[in-house]
Amino acid sequence: MKLYHNARFETLDPANPFARYILCDGATIAYVGNDKPEGEYDTHDLMGHLVTPGLIDCHTHLIYGGNRASEFEQRLQGVSYEEIAKAGGGIRSTVKATRASSTLYETAAKRLAYWLKQGVTTLEIKSGYGLNLETERKMLQTVRALAQNFAVDIKTTYLAAHALPADYDDKDTYIDDTNIWMKTLNNEGLIDAVDAFCEGIGFSPAQTRRVFETASRLNLPVKLHADQLSNLEGAALAASYNALSADHVEYLSDAGVDAMAKAQTVAVLLPGATYYIRETKHPPIQALRDKGVKIALATDHNPGSSPILSPLLIMNMAATLFRMTPDECLRGFTVNAAAALGLSDRGMLKAGLRADFAVWDVAHSNELTYYVGHNPHIATIYKGEIRDL
Ligand SMILES: [Zn+2]
Repeated sequence: MKLYHNARFETLDPANPFARYILCDGATIAYVGNDKPEGEYDTHDLMGHLVTPGLIDCHTHLIYGGNRASEFEQRLQGVSYEEIAKAGGGIRSTVKATRASSTLYETAAKRLAYWLKQGVTTLEIKSGYGLNLETERKMLQTVRALAQNFAVDIKTTYLAAHALPADYDDKDTYIDDTNIWMKTLNNEGLIDAVDAFCEGIGFSPAQTRRVFETASRLNLPVKLHADQLSNLEGAALAASYNALSADHVEYLSDAGVDAMAKAQTVAVLLPGATYYIRETKHPPIQALRDKGVKIALATDHNPGSSPILSPLLIMNMAATLFRMTPDECLRGFTVNAAAALGLSDRGMLKAGLRADFAVWDVAHSNELTYYVGHNPHIATIYKGEIRDL
């Protein structure tokens, strides 16, 4: 048993919001409180720092080949996204680079190090830049390999319904194939959840429904890139399948909010994409609050619309762009992010939950949202042990 003390533990547990001691029994929290528990333990002095639950990034596209820095530069010089896409750029260039890459693991591992240095203890990584069986498998296997080799819990999401690859001309035929691959990859133990991109430039609600039907038959939870650029009532569709989350949701309607509240589908907001593509339409935060929909935040790290490697920066963006409070931002990267991944064993500091927490050189958790470009991370305790970086 290990006793962590001399810290301000901000637990996010409404029944017990602040504590001075946490006792870990292996990977599990055995006690959280203000009184020192009786007994002999290994004690670890946290030097008076602030401690929060480990951060959880519930929406990333961390694995891909190449990058799109030259497209970013072209766009700044006035070339339109359509022109870039016609010239083979955009998501198709990332698919090409991902299929050709022999260093997917190495490049992803390098990026992952930034999340670990910011107190992240759980993250989700999607496929979706392979868009054929071979490379979707390679991406998901790469995620499993990262999870094996790094002290962080990583969930995989199958996102073959991300875009129509250049080698298909019919979206329905492509969806048929992605559903066959889903069964194969699920049999190989590579899929934790299923996602799709429901949008004019992605897939229609009817096609998304077919993805969800297959996932449901395989007992796989679903989530959706929904109502980002237009309102297709994607979030309501996701909620009708009891989706874990509907993500982006800039164009979410009142009916969508109601459906999410009823199904307890989490709204995952991605202000990094809002910032990067200079989107002026913001998610309906107040309606989500009013209806009690849980709000999570994530980096949405990807090479096109959110090449951002910092959960802390995203917390600041959620505050500055969406006017979320620092408390909402912290919950967005902890307890609500856990809900967005269907994980009830983490996200708060509470007896019985996983002993995953981050130690910060700040006096109050609102400083995590306040600074820009500063990383006050001191240490991470992962499954009860201090994590070496
Ligand atoms: Zn995304």
